[in-house]
Amino acid sequence: MSYISEVDPEIAEALRLEANRQDYKLNLIASENYASRAVMEAQGSVMTNKYAEGYSGKRYYGGCDYVDIAEDLAVQRAKKIFGAEYINVQPHSGSGANMAVYFSVLKVGDTIMSMDLSHGGHLSHGSPVNFAGQLYKIVPYGVDKETEALDYDALLAMAKANRPKMIVCGASAYSRTLDFKRFREIADEVDAYLLADIAHIAGLVAAGAHPSPVEHCDFVTTTTHKTLRGPRGGMVMCREEYAKDVAKAVFPGLQGGPLMHVIAAKAVAFKEAMGEQFKKDQFQTVANAKVLSEELKQNGCNIVSGGTDNHVMLVNLNGFNVTGKEVEAGMSKAGIILNKNTIPFETRSPFITSGIRIGTPAATTRGMKEKEMKEIAGYIRTVIDNLGNETVLNSVNSDVEQLCSNFPIYK
Ligand code: PLP
Repeated sequence: MSYISEVDPEIAEALRLEANRQDYKLNLIASENYASRAVMEAQGSVMTNKYAEGYSGKRYYGGCDYVDIAEDLAVQRAKKIFGAEYINVQPHSGSGANMAVYFSVLKVGDTIMSMDLSHGGHLSHGSPVNFAGQLYKIVPYGVDKETEALDYDALLAMAKANRPKMIVCGASAYSRTLDFKRFREIADEVDAYLLADIAHIAGLVAAGAHPSPVEHCDFVTTTTHKTLRGPRGGMVMCREEYAKDVAKAVFPGLQGGPLMHVIAAKAVAFKEAMGEQFKKDQFQTVANAKVLSEELKQNGCNIVSGGTDNHVMLVNLNGFNVTGKEVEAGMSKAGIILNKNTIPFETRSPFITSGIRIGTPAATTRGMKEKEMKEIAGYIRTVIDNLGNETVLNSVNSDVEQLCSNFPIYK
């Protein structure tokens, strides 16, 4: 930090405050995590200085010998982890990775069947405010009203009625195991491409804590910064037959120079993901989520679909007569960071919402286990019941700070 303090004290101060915030706040945002020091060192390295348009061994710039090493390692390691035939580590983001897949095999106006945003899908799966919703005809699917989980028979019927060119599975707020084999059967019935977006569950898939989509799907996309615990970025995996089209869609189709410092950091994260500690942490993430969701239920919370199989859960707040926006703000005052979220069959706007989303990856990375999850469930219920009571919120805040200081992120 010493160089930044000298050159730019204002940014140095913002960084100090952010580090402090991360240390003492309880992060329950399902899409966040803590990258290791090694990952951050690679990301803050000299590779940020290098242009490397093209792919390893076939660049449009000289001097790429060493960035090629980084990209080759990232690809080799990702292949070892996920077993995909082709992997492209250049997408700058998860949204860009999805865009690359669409651009590789779809034409503007083609039909995509994907999960509705308000049921747990992602913007880049076809929201009207996103490029995907503007360029393609979107047939949105949701969860069943009773079970609040996917109904695969209903999906098949919808696919038959709409004959999509591509089916997208994967979500930002879906707590149940995805049946990729079943999705494949549905896609085959209507001759559609199948894309699994595993941005949220990639770490679980890498560790074997969630079934892998790779053998069932034509394309798999992910971010590298959620459960996978790497730098902020994206990645595309696909069958060899689509490799050339995907490569062309990423570069020169969508991007210029790849972020080689980020690709080096992806390689480091993939090496970590092959280790025993990572694997343990992913299974612990799921175990923690199950305990947290059970404890919340015992504390009177309504968990969408009745529980979780992965790292995330949604709390339906309707029974408490409070909104997601109010609860997010109250939690923040109590040192608990999470996000308001729409729930299936939502009646409020996405800025207000009737739910909150809770995830366990970040808390698990800092070492919290079942015992802490039980404590956290109690804090959550206390905050929901005391949104206007500053004294109670301050008291929870002190307890949360103490809890966090027992589990330092960077030891
Ligand atoms: N796909 C899913 C399922 C996501 O949850 C997200 C991000 O939250 C993305 C894609 C997009 O990733 P990014 O924010 O890197 O564009």
